Amino acid sequence: MKAAVLKGIEDLEIKDMPNPSPSPNEMVIKVKTCTICGTDIRVYHYGHKHINFPRITGHEVAGEIVEVGNEVKDYKKGEKVAVAPAIPCGKCFYCRRGMQSMCLNLKAIGYHYNGGFAEFMLIPEDAIQNGCVNRIPKNLSFEEASLAEPLACAINGQELSKVYLGDTVAIIGAGPLGCIHIQLAKVKGTSKIILIEISEKRIELIQKIVPIEVVINPSREDIVKRVKEETGGRGVDKIIVACSNRKAQEQALLIVSPRGIVNFFGGLPKGEPFIKFNSNLVHYGEFYVVGTHGSAPYHNELALNLISQKRIKVKELITHRLPLKKLKEGIHLAESQESLKVLIEP
Ligand SMILES: [Zn+2]
Ligand SMILES: [Zn+2]
Repeated sequence: MKAAVLKGIEDLEIKDMPNPSPSPNEMVIKVKTCTICGTDIRVYHYGHKHINFPRITGHEVAGEIVEVGNEVKDYKKGEKVAVAPAIPCGKCFYCRRGMQSMCLNLKAIGYHYNGGFAEFMLIPEDAIQNGCVNRIPKNLSFEEASLAEPLACAINGQELSKVYLGDTVAIIGAGPLGCIHIQLAKVKGTSKIILIEISEKRIELIQKIVPIEVVINPSREDIVKRVKEETGGRGVDKIIVACSNRKAQEQALLIVSPRGIVNFFGGLPKGEPFIKFNSNLVHYGEFYVVGTHGSAPYHNELALNLISQKRIKVKELITHRLPLKKLKEGIHLAESQESLKVLIEP
């Protein structure tokens, strides 16, 4: 098969490799679609502590089962599936308490195991056993199913940020995840969405997909003042910082309402993970700061359902479709402001 092998930092090679062959408890899928995620860009430039090179990355994967080990009873050849990449162990302290995304023995496709930037992908036994393989609803395409993964991460994020009916929610960052968060917040019955984004290009792209009540560009106006005007002077109930930017995190802490919740959904670059804030704001405002990343298998199942019920539009997020051999180009496109989601079709 053809595979995109990451041999080291910024060293990606498209090469021929033997097709994966499943042991009795494993399966193989023909990868139909794999979308490029912010993490794939990070891993390409900086590597990752759980990745030993060489590795095939890619974790937003949908495909068709082509081989099933003798011991696998629940799936058959020809079924179309989306794979939740984060595989919990099912046995540790957190798994037993239903917090699979915090699993102490978490393994991930595209990190510990080879991922979807290849023609075929092995689905390991622990992924099958722990509910990571979801059948794609009949009305969904493979590309829509690939996008269940980022939606699953957004669902986990809004669960922990307690986004509820009637809330005012601010999303900082109009990348693909910002756009998914906006739609999800609307599904949850929030009363007002405020989008904060610097790039006019991104604002334009996103407004074509989903109407947004309030858009603030912090390079043009004072965001604290404007947010006060939009929220009766109170601040925003729930804030999702959906970008990897120190300043955005600091700004979020200035516009959150008393007893509100700020979610640092995007991680900061490895070299500069520190932010500066007035801790008295927390003291007097009694607000909460959470962070989230990743998701549990049930979030992926829920994500597929929401997409299938047309509650969240994901197809519209795909701005570019490329063959596997153009993955490197795809990574550069995905990190530019010109794109939202870049899809690879191996
Ligand atoms: Zn992802
Ligand atoms: Zn566990």
